[in-house]
Amino acid sequence: ESQCGPRGPEVHYSQGCLFSLTVNLLDSRSVIGDLGWVAYPKNGWEEIGEVDEDYAPIHTYQVCRVMEQNQNNWLHTNWILTEGAQRVFIELKFTLRDCNSLPGGVGTCKETFNMYYYETNDRVMKESRYIKIDTIAADESFTELDLGDRVMKLNTEVRDLGPLTHKGFYLAFQDLGACIALVSVRVFYKRCPFLVKSLASQLVEVVGRCVNNSIPLYEPPRMHCSTEGEWLVPIGKCVCQSGFEEINGSCQVCKVGFYRSLLESLACSKCPPHSVARQTGATACSCEDGYHKIDSDPPNMACTRPPSAPRNAISNVNETSVFLEWSVPLDTGGRKDVRYNILCRRVLPDGRGLEECGPNVRFLPRRVGLSNTSVMVADLQSHTNYSFLLEAVNGVSELAKDHAKQYVTLNVTTNQAAPSPVSVVRKGHTGKSSIAVSWAEPDRPNGIILEYEIKYFEKEQDSSYTIIKSKETEMVVEGLKPSSAYIFQVRARTSAGYGAFSRRFEFQTSPYLTATSERAQASIVAVAITLALVLLAVVAGFLLSGRRCGYSKAKQDPEEEKMHFHNGHIKFPGVRTYIDPLTYEDPNQAVHEFAQEIDVSFISIERIIGAGEFGEVCSGPLRLPGKREIQVAIKTLKAGYTEQQRRDFLWEASIMGQFNHPNIIRLEGVVTKSKPVMIITEYMENGSLDTFLKKNDAQFTVIQLVGMLRGIASGMRYLSDMGYVHRDLAARNILVNSNLVCKVSDFGLSRVLEDDPEAAYTTRGGKIPIRWTAPEAIAYRKFTSASDVWSYGIVMWEVMSYGERPYWEMSNQDVIKAVEESYRLPGPMDCPEALYHLMMDCWQRERSNRPKFDEIVCLLDKFIRNPSSLKKLVNSSHRVSNLLVEHASIDGDCSTRSQTVGEWLDSIKMGRYTELFMEGGYSSLETVAQMTSEDLRRVGVNLAGHQKKIITSIQEMRVHMNSTSSTVKI
Ligand code: AMP
Repeated sequence: ESQCGPRGPEVHYSQGCLFSLTVNLLDSRSVIGDLGWVAYPKNGWEEIGEVDEDYAPIHTYQVCRVMEQNQNNWLHTNWILTEGAQRVFIELKFTLRDCNSLPGGVGTCKETFNMYYYETNDRVMKESRYIKIDTIAADESFTELDLGDRVMKLNTEVRDLGPLTHKGFYLAFQDLGACIALVSVRVFYKRCPFLVKSLASQLVEVVGRCVNNSIPLYEPPRMHCSTEGEWLVPIGKCVCQSGFEEINGSCQVCKVGFYRSLLESLACSKCPPHSVARQTGATACSCEDGYHKIDSDPPNMACTRPPSAPRNAISNVNETSVFLEWSVPLDTGGRKDVRYNILCRRVLPDGRGLEECGPNVRFLPRRVGLSNTSVMVADLQSHTNYSFLLEAVNGVSELAKDHAKQYVTLNVTTNQAAPSPVSVVRKGHTGKSSIAVSWAEPDRPNGIILEYEIKYFEKEQDSSYTIIKSKETEMVVEGLKPSSAYIFQVRARTSAGYGAFSRRFEFQTSPYLTATSERAQASIVAVAITLALVLLAVVAGFLLSGRRCGYSKAKQDPEEEKMHFHNGHIKFPGVRTYIDPLTYEDPNQAVHEFAQEIDVSFISIERIIGAGEFGEVCSGPLRLPGKREIQVAIKTLKAGYTEQQRRDFLWEASIMGQFNHPNIIRLEGVVTKSKPVMIITEYMENGSLDTFLKKNDAQFTVIQLVGMLRGIASGMRYLSDMGYVHRDLAARNILVNSNLVCKVSDFGLSRVLEDDPEAAYTTRGGKIPIRWTAPEAIAYRKFTSASDVWSYGIVMWEVMSYGERPYWEMSNQDVIKAVEESYRLPGPMDCPEALYHLMMDCWQRERSNRPKFDEIVCLLDKFIRNPSSLKKLVNSSHRVSNLLVEHASIDGDCSTRSQTVGEWLDSIKMGRYTELFMEGGYSSLETVAQMTSEDLRRVGVNLAGHQKKIITSIQEMRVHMNSTSSTVKI
């Protein structure tokens, strides 16, 4: 019925469906026979029956009493039914005589007539009630001449009427003395066409109706029909209900094997794999037997089932820890959410069955819901059999109750193990020069305790300490200084060797108050100062004579050296060191000493590239007069800052401005004379390293990655040479430019850590990025270049794993505990073994055993020169074996000092054999690297476990030494 082109949901209002239908209520021309209109007076209007060319009747009423005075001739139509139309149109066709053309210019002649209407609900007519619609004039009147030419000048006039409120009405035409012929009268109304639009059918009602099997979407369909019969402003729409699809403007039922859920798609879809729809009109498909779906699975996802068991499970025992590793199941059940659960059971002696392991056994990262295919199980009992069940589960495992669980079992026997650490050391009686200490036996002695070692030293003086042995669990430590804080640590020894030291306990001696002793103390202090000055002079002399380059060479501990060099601004000519801005009374002076002031007119800000602690980070060109234009990053200080915030913000510039190295972010200058205050640095196109790596997962060659690491190490070497300790070295604080050059950024002191979202509060109150920080820095804030080296090892791991989060989702507390217990990050996937060795070296517990940055740079250069050294990748067994082994330091030409055989044996807790090795002639690591199991037995290593441990370490040593011998393309 629509006249608006194609019907159905595709008809859009905007396509111009604006036609209306006209419905005739009266058309005088289509009436056959007498019209039956009433004229009054009788000699007024008269009907002339004529036919047109097609012999169709023409009912013409005419009146022409122009010669007579006081004419009032009425013509009434029949009763016209409105059919509910509220507004009707009346179209008149008529001719009218031009009065001027009448002979004699008749004074009474009129050229208009009036049209009236009268509404009524029945046919009863009351003339007096007629209401005038309009006076009708002719656009063109005819003359004598026209009559002669037989030209009819037909006028058409349309008037509208409404709103009508009754069932029907009469029309009347009043003539007051004109010469008129009313050729036709048509009365009609306009109706909006029937329209199927968005599946809503609409007649004249304003509220639409959804077609069969469709339902309103969001709100019922509504449209407005104007008085002109046009659709206006459609609101709401309908969609086919679930189980139906829209075809040609109607909703048709989905066939068997097909389904449609509301909103998912417009058409019915075939049931996804392992599901069926046995009836028509399915709104979802049901899963075949043995297959399941969970609520969050989308309807178009296949039905799935629990996974099969994990495969290739292997275990690797290290004393009382076990590393379990496995491969993903052959059948994941069609799902991606496969997780693993571990059930740990202890095998009871004498066949008494199995017992669950209990809460003392630790699982890293956790026991259930593992997403990785490995787990570390620690704190097992020594010399004990365990049975581990590894189970794979997925999202539908819970639903598949009938599905037999698929396990893989691993039976493991733990080894002899050193005792666990002593957990608490208590203070007893305290004197001026003595402290009584006591402790409890370790939780897991793992054998008979032969003796304890008590290590103590004066607080902050840990470079020299004393060790005393005791068979008891208490002792009195004597010979201490009064009023001094001492650190105590205790460890136990069994036949399996020493356990780890307890954590540090701090106790204070009593004060010593006599006047003589104060004098004595004063003289001790004086002697100490004298000695210190002498020492300072000696060190200075050494530095002055031995310096080759502009800045100092690597130092063991720049922080300590800093004390000598920087406190009180003692500086030596030719030695460039970092100056702590704190030593300036006026921080503004520090800024202007180290940073150039830039006029803000030389900078244009073009883009915002990041958010910093103090405000936005933007980029744009810097055009310094007489210099080439460069792109810069612009750190801004947001409005409304306090003086302290301004100082903190510019602090970074005071530090950065002291550095000049290709791997340290370069400071261009500061804007402090206008607002906002800005720090301008070189622009690094690729942003921060962690985000960059995540974005480019697996996109680089090993050599490219090593190149990045080399850059970072080189920047860090420069910083440590300058005596600057970064404290927050992490991939997120490295920036990368378009040439993949990495530069160290984010400088500051404690402020840096306050900003870092990774930094967490430690028990001692400081804020530290735990995962990146060396244990001694976490425990007692011992931040040195050696702790930066630890962080560098973590950055290496981040780089080689393309931005993976160190220790994944383990909590900070678990990380601290695990690291303390010698747990180290496993080698990243596809990481060259030599790089992983270097990481492990950076994570040596003893900070003096960690490599220095210049050694790291040297070693990485070696790798780059000889890529074949990176050929061997960390395989799973190495990933495992390295987990708990404290590594020997790197040696070879990059080491400033080769490791001795004794140190190597100590590092693998086999120090007791040092003498036997020496006696057997194995006094260098080169000769040790050649040893076989037979050689070991010959020198007197008889225990199988010890032989295995030493041989494993020798094999790793060989890999390390031989890694340069073969060539391969990387
Ligand atoms: P920051 O306050 O230094 O941590 O900077 C916040 C963010 O701004 C960083 O994570 C980078 O994404 C970006 N950004 C900072 N400095 C630069 C720079 N020199 N070049 C490019 N992006 C930068």
